Amino acid sequence: AVLLATTFGMLFGLLTAYILQNNLTPGREILSGIKRDQFYVVYQPVVDAKNLQVTGVEVLMRWKHPTAGEIPPDAFIHFAEAQQLIMPLTQHLFRLIAHDAPRLKTLLPEGAKLGINIAPGHLQDENFMQDIRQLSRSLPAHHFSIVLEITERDMLLNEVTARFEQLREEGYETAIDDFGTGHSALIYLERFTMDYLKIDRGFVNAIGTETVTSPVLDAVLTLAKKLNMLTVAEGVETPEQARWLREHGVHYMQGYYFSRPMTLQQFTEWRSPPFS
Ligand code: C2E
Ligand code: CA
Ligand code: CA
Ligand code: CA
Repeated sequence: AVLLATTFGMLFGLLTAYILQNNLTPGREILSGIKRDQFYVVYQPVVDAKNLQVTGVEVLMRWKHPTAGEIPPDAFIHFAEAQQLIMPLTQHLFRLIAHDAPRLKTLLPEGAKLGINIAPGHLQDENFMQDIRQLSRSLPAHHFSIVLEITERDMLLNEVTARFEQLREEGYETAIDDFGTGHSALIYLERFTMDYLKIDRGFVNAIGTETVTSPVLDAVLTLAKKLNMLTVAEGVETPEQARWLREHGVHYMQGYYFSRPMTLQQFTEWRSPPFS
């Protein structure tokens, strides 16, 4: 956690330093970035642990700033939230997805899941339902299922859980992200139904490096099963990790072992290798 906080601090610091040096306001930079088309999306395949076939993608945002270079989402999402700009940014993200959707449809099977990260600041806004419905309407009919991801930390906000219930009622799927890293949301897991539990890559990372396998990971898998939640393991980087996860009943996996996040163009050229 300390390391993570430090890394985050550095990224955040770089952007802050750059913005101060150049007399810019972060809000204006984000807005002009939207206008000038500096934001783009990458897609990371998610595979079914049973047959290792791609069943969906997670959508991840990128910012290519003309002078600061590639700014990672962990840095700019927080800026956008602090500046009340998460709404225009996510609306822009939805437009990018809608634009890619016809080509994505040719690359993914029917029923494919589109995992989209949602910041709590946007969820709490009254326009959120309108925005998500509009995205839904702009996708090819019946091909995709939208999975909205929020982090365990953000689940502690009452407005968020209420909104998630509403979303499920309207047919969207929901996922709790980075599970195991936030303040424990265990109590909420019992109160609110979510479809997927995404196991943070910190747990996956530990597989194969310790002589005994992780008792915490075992417990998380048992918990998810009892709660009737489907599990997604994130950050799978080696075939050993993939094998362990499959043997322990994880439902879906994503990570560099399968593929890095790709632009639509890279995804079009990507041929999934025979995984083992
Ligand atoms: P996340 O939702 O947990 O996304 C997974 C992160 O893990 C991504 O980082 C992805 O590139 C990285 N990753 C995937 N497989 C591996 C692996 O095998 N090993 C390692 N070491 N890393 C892997 P990314 O793209 O930098 O995104 C960071 C975070 O920023 C995301 O974490 C998410 O919380 C947030 N984010 C990204 N895009 C959006 C967005 O459009 N909206 C919002 N609100 N947040 C976003
Ligand atoms: Ca996510
Ligand atoms: Ca995650
Ligand atoms: Ca994360």
